[in-house]
Amino acid sequence: MTDVDVPESHPRYESLLTRHRIEEGVEKGITSRQGLIAQGRGEAFDYLLGEETIPSADRAERVAAARLLLAERPVLSVNGNVAALVPGEMVELATVVDADIEVNLFNRTKQRMEAIAAHLRDHGADEVKGLTADARIPGLDHERAKVDADGIHAADVVLVPLEDGDRATALAEMGKSEIVIDLNPRSRSAEAAAVPLVDNIIRAVPNITRHAREMADADAEILREHVERFDPSEALADAEQRIRDGDLA
Ligand code: ATP
Repeated sequence: MTDVDVPESHPRYESLLTRHRIEEGVEKGITSRQGLIAQGRGEAFDYLLGEETIPSADRAERVAAARLLLAERPVLSVNGNVAALVPGEMVELATVVDADIEVNLFNRTKQRMEAIAAHLRDHGADEVKGLTADARIPGLDHERAKVDADGIHAADVVLVPLEDGDRATALAEMGKSEIVIDLNPRSRSAEAAAVPLVDNIIRAVPNITRHAREMADADAEILREHVERFDPSEALADAEQRIRDGDLA
């Protein structure tokens, strides 16, 4: 048993734990109510994927780690669901690949921005970007366009988990190389990604970190080969096939 009253032997243990963390996020003012809906949608896809990291997602997570290690200015974007589900894991990944963390919200309010930044600091983040908001992503309305000039705006590689499709598309149009975590292989965000990860964020982030640790001393040439050999549409097609063929317990 952990912070939630569900025995680990329960067949839906992880799913219930995840739901509980999102509920807590809403109570703490970190996650929006729309975040609850996004969570429900994610759970449905995760169920259809067998609630496990499928082999093509594991390969994509290794490519994501290589892409982050090669990046000059990597940034990990954090929204209300990400902060509720994997705050410590995002801080750990940022440390391993030497990335900045930036808070970025679909429904931006000063209060929620500050609550998330404080929550990330409680989980070990030294610096949290996103509050300066002195630059804009072209093609989006004012509030959703706000980013930090020395954060996402200047990044070459951005990890955007559970991102809304408009923003993911606008970031790709800016020339960012995007790593998207999204359980829906048909979402516009997954389709805009250079590296789509069709996996639950609670499994994906620690797995990227594990791969990054393993490859930390690898030659840049080897890392580049990983990135170049990767085909995003193949990864999406594989996840979709898995959902269609699913052998559900
Ligand atoms: P789009 O605009 O890209 O078509 P959308 O309107 O569905 O997508 P949101 O509602 O913001 O966008 O969706 C959030 C996405 O995050 C959904 O596709 C959902 O499946 C996914 N998601 C939710 N929870 C998780 C999770 N824990 N791990 C990974 N993905 C998740």
